Amino acid sequence: MTEMTTLYQYNTLGALMAGLYKGTMTIGELLKHGDMGIGTVDSIDGELIILDGKAYQAKGDKTITELSDDVTVPYAAVVNHRADHRFNQTEKLSADALKAKMEEHFGENLFQSIKITGSFSKMHVRMIPRAEEGVAFVEVASNQPEYIEENVTGTIVGVWTPELFHGVSVAGYHLHFLSDDHVFGGHVLDFELESGEVEIGRVDELQQGFPVNNENFLKAKFNVNELKAAIDTAE
Ligand SMILES: [Zn+2]
Repeated sequence: MTEMTTLYQYNTLGALMAGLYKGTMTIGELLKHGDMGIGTVDSIDGELIILDGKAYQAKGDKTITELSDDVTVPYAAVVNHRADHRFNQTEKLSADALKAKMEEHFGENLFQSIKITGSFSKMHVRMIPRAEEGVAFVEVASNQPEYIEENVTGTIVGVWTPELFHGVSVAGYHLHFLSDDHVFGGHVLDFELESGEVEIGRVDELQQGFPVNNENFLKAKFNVNELKAAIDTAE
């Protein structure tokens, strides 16, 4: 029997866009659901990167910290990554060209887990700056620090989401990066791969968790179209 891969998503990007930033699940709990993934930390204090079962926070001041199990997150998506397709990329490729090449290996209607390990001639990331609950995410993102590093080795982790799930997540790629030396990382805006190994894993099922005890979430009124547009702008 083929092993099933489950993508576990805690809360939704839509809720995050609406300004619900309170951390309501611990890293310890989250890591039970997967060893690779993306997200953010309580008060959207930077980018969450989960690699090899460890959680890292890339903050706007360009620091990376390994997170302890008691730190909380408002939003994350994790998976026990299992590669179905794997290829070595030996020629330099832009992010767009590599994405197109990866898409030759999967259709449009299933989630995929993505892992790219290698040497990047360019890596352009942002870190969402810490914000108070209620300030719209797009507003916070308009002041986000961005950094470009050249010739850095590391790993891109993330998820590709089908169009049908835009709002729950962001349709297309949501990728975070962590350098091998753990000093540089963040939410990937653009990159150029010098050479490396690309892994794509088919996701068989989606498990959706909710902040069931968070009053602000329970009482929130969501304008879905607005939130979808905000995801297009900020993610
Ligand atoms: Zn991100």
